[in-house]
Amino acid sequence: MSSETALDVFDRRESEVRGYIRSFPTVFDRATGSTLVDADGREYLDFFAGAGVLNYGHNNPAFTRALIEYLERDGIIHGLDMATSAKKAFIEAFERLVLAPRGLDHKLQFTGPTGANAVEAALKVARQATGRSTVVAFTNAFHGLSLGSLAATGNSHYRGAAGVGLDDVARLPYDAYLGTDVDTLDLLEKMLDDPGSGLDLPAAVIVEAVQGEGGINVASTAWLQRLREITAARGILLILDEIQAGVGRSGAFFAFEESGIVPDIVTISKSISGSGLPMSLVLLRPEVDVWKPGQHTGTFRGNNLAFVSARVALETYWADSAFTDAIAEKSELLRAGLDRIAADHPDQGFVVRGRGLIFGLACDGDRTLAGRISAEAFRRGLVIETSGAFDEVLKFLPALTISEEELARGLAIVRESLDAVLAAA
Ligand SMILES: *Cc1c(COP(=O)(O)O)cnc(C)c1O
Repeated sequence: MSSETALDVFDRRESEVRGYIRSFPTVFDRATGSTLVDADGREYLDFFAGAGVLNYGHNNPAFTRALIEYLERDGIIHGLDMATSAKKAFIEAFERLVLAPRGLDHKLQFTGPTGANAVEAALKVARQATGRSTVVAFTNAFHGLSLGSLAATGNSHYRGAAGVGLDDVARLPYDAYLGTDVDTLDLLEKMLDDPGSGLDLPAAVIVEAVQGEGGINVASTAWLQRLREITAARGILLILDEIQAGVGRSGAFFAFEESGIVPDIVTISKSISGSGLPMSLVLLRPEVDVWKPGQHTGTFRGNNLAFVSARVALETYWADSAFTDAIAEKSELLRAGLDRIAADHPDQGFVVRGRGLIFGLACDGDRTLAGRISAEAFRRGLVIETSGAFDEVLKFLPALTISEEELARGLAIVRESLDAVLAAA
């Protein structure tokens, strides 16, 4: 069966809103590690990892085994927010392997399973804890598409679909938005301290330490530290959105870790379950945990299968530094490979940005180039997406468990695809 025929039912019946199916037009059937296989048996190397959901690869055998055992013993699947042994074991593992080693005393709030659910809860509790409504968010931020989170998201393509006002968010420039020689926090600090600025004292500032959807922009350590100082000095809560950049993606468990700052609130989702099952949580400093019992609910706050694989992921990968050491090695290989591609095409003016295993090849000279490379790479058996306000950044998001051989093979496909696209032009 040809791919065209195989996709007929999607064209006929699935809403026009469908997105990734257009970039990767085939019917995927199974996957392991960094390899996807479609219904015709064709293999694809995965440099996308479910937009950061599959940091430990597809169907990681350690998680699959634990999930099958849990199902076979009739473990609780759905439990609202009742206590279950799966949830208890996850919280204990998170406390022991994530919070305690980093000296964090945050409480855990389990929200509905999407990232946007976590962001909504974070914004709501920040407003409630401070009694203020304004939230500062940054240029090119992506925080989700539900109304509250969408108000904090920058991209006009998404904002334009809201149909109602997106209120109570003030936009300020992210690190290096005006070039690396301008410290954009000068503007935030001046506006906060100037009663004429028009910026009301915010409840919170929400920020990604590495912007994923916004084009792989990396906030510097100094910028994050200064942001923490500015917010702390004025009683403004600092929310780190770690939904994409967290859970090892940026090289450490949290993307903010390298800067040494302690956020008041942290949102986590995407790769936290490890297996790709939906799960989200919000970390709250105890003073910020002002919720009254049941004040923010959600039927699917207790995806117990996700708790099982999430616990196994923490135990398997975060008990010592072997995993982060391996990420650091692969990070160097990826950066070196991208630097070589940029150096070999000086007339294109490519810029390489990233950290850990989240990298972007920014093709600002010709903003259509990244999309054309992605399409050509797919024809050659590589799944790789674009990001940025103009989809001008080729986005490298391989599983953190990818082998060095696979990383090199994917980079070779990108290089071949780039040269094919340039030759065709
Ligand atoms: C993906 C993402 C979200 C939204 O998560 P959904 O599950 O799509 O609602 C929020 N913030 C960041 C940084 C993300 O990458």
